[in-house]
Amino acid sequence: MAKKLKVRYYKPKADIALDINDIQNFVYDMSRCIKCKGCMWVDHTYMPGAASGFLTKCPSANMYQYDAYSGAGKMRIAHAMAEGVLDWNEKALEIVYACTLCGACDTGCKRNLDLEVELTLEALRVKAVKDGVGPMPAHKKVADNIIKKHNSFGAVHKDRNDWMPKGITPAKKADIVYFAGCNAAYVNKEIAQSTVKIFKAAGTDFMMLPDEWCCGNIIFSVGMVDEAKKLAERNIKEMRKTGAKTLITSCAEGYRMWKVDYPKLLNISTDDLGFKVLHITEYADEMIKSGKLKMKKSFDSRVTYHDACSLSRLSEPWTPWEGKRGWMGCVEPKIKRRRGTNGVYSQPREILQAIPGVNLVEMPRTRENAYCCGAGRGAREAFPEFAAFSANHRLDEVKSVGAETLVTACPICKSNFAKAIKENGDDVQVMDITEVICASIKG
Ligand code: SF4
Ligand code: SF4
Repeated sequence: MAKKLKVRYYKPKADIALDINDIQNFVYDMSRCIKCKGCMWVDHTYMPGAASGFLTKCPSANMYQYDAYSGAGKMRIAHAMAEGVLDWNEKALEIVYACTLCGACDTGCKRNLDLEVELTLEALRVKAVKDGVGPMPAHKKVADNIIKKHNSFGAVHKDRNDWMPKGITPAKKADIVYFAGCNAAYVNKEIAQSTVKIFKAAGTDFMMLPDEWCCGNIIFSVGMVDEAKKLAERNIKEMRKTGAKTLITSCAEGYRMWKVDYPKLLNISTDDLGFKVLHITEYADEMIKSGKLKMKKSFDSRVTYHDACSLSRLSEPWTPWEGKRGWMGCVEPKIKRRRGTNGVYSQPREILQAIPGVNLVEMPRTRENAYCCGAGRGAREAFPEFAAFSANHRLDEVKSVGAETLVTACPICKSNFAKAIKENGDDVQVMDITEVICASIKG
C-alpha cells in the first residue's frame, strides 16, 4: 500500500537554516502550502484590468497545463520526496527542470505567506543531483563546457575578450571591473560593446578581470552546487585581487550570481563580498542623473520594457540565516525575507524616460509580476519548446500594447525573444537597454 503524506507538526525549537543543500530545511514551507494558487495568478490589485487576458505568472504551468508544474505542485512533489513518500521518475524530473526558477511563484506566495518557494525549488534540484538523477543531459553538456572551457558555449577561452571595440582599451587598474559574462562575450557581443561605450561616454575608467570565467549560472541553477561553489570562490578571489571597489555587469543572470547566489553558496552576506555589484542600468541611471552621461539623439519608438527575473524579483541581497522554528511556524531570530519587490525596477524605466523620442508603454504584467521570457536557469538548454512557448506568450503581451521596440536588460532574454521574433516574422524589434542608450549618446 502506498505511504500517505502527513502534515508534520513541529515540536518547538527545531533547528533550521536557509540552506538549499538540505531539502529538510524547507519541509515546513512545503507542508504549509494552502493551494491558494497565488503562485500561478497575477495579484489582481496590480492588474490594470482582467480584460487584458494576461493574468497568469507561471510559464511552466501555462505550458504544461497541469498544477503539478506550478510552484504549488513542485512544493507538493518536494514534500513527498522529503518525507520518503515519492521517489524520482522521468515525469518528476521533467517537472522539476521544465521551470525557469523565475521567482514569480515565490513573490506571489509571499504576498500572503512567508513560504520559501524559490529556495525549495533550488533545493529540489540540489537533491536531484545528489540523488544521481539530475541534471538533464543537455545541462551536463553545458556544465562540461563551463568546467573545461570556462564558458557555457564551449567556445575558445582565449577569444573571450575579442568583442572589445576598436578605440576602447580597458585600464590596467581601475575602481570598476566590467564583467561581460559568456553571452555578451561570445554571442550578443553588441551588449558588451555598448556597455564599454557607455563607460567611455561617461568618462569612466574600467578594467576587465585578468582572466574572466563564466559566472556558473547554469551549473548553480541545475543543482550542481559543489561545482558552482568552486567557481564562486575562484571568481571572488580574482575580483578581490584587482582591488576594485565595484563590479558592473550587463547580464541579469550574472548580476544575480555575483550579488545573491555566490553569497548564498558561501554562506556569507552580499555585504561581505568586499565589493559592490551593480547592473549597468543602476550605473547608467546614476551617470545620467549626475549629468555625466548625456542622452542627446532621439530614439523615436514606442517602447516597452521587459523585467528580466534575475535583475528584478530575484536580485535582492542575500543574508544567511539559521535559527529555530517553533510553534505556529514562528522563527527566531527573524528572517529578512526576500519578497521580490526591491529589485532593479525604476532605473531602467528612468533611463528610457530620459531618452528623447522614447514613448514608454507598460505591459499589463510588470515589475515583480512580470512574465518570464522562458529561457533562464537551464530551461532553454533542456526544453527549447518551453522557452519558445514562454517567449511567444510574452510577445503577445508586447504586441497587445502596440510596442515597436521591446527593450530588455539581459542578453539571455534578448536571445530568446530575438529567436521567437525571427521565427514568427513579428513586426517588433528587440534591443538591449545598453544599445538604446548608445543610440542616444552618439548624437
Ligand atoms: S501561493 Fe504559496 S501557499 Fe498558495 S498555492 Fe502557491 S505555494 Fe501554495
Ligand atoms: S519558478 Fe517560475 S516557472 Fe518555475 S514554478 Fe515558479 S513561477 Fe513557475
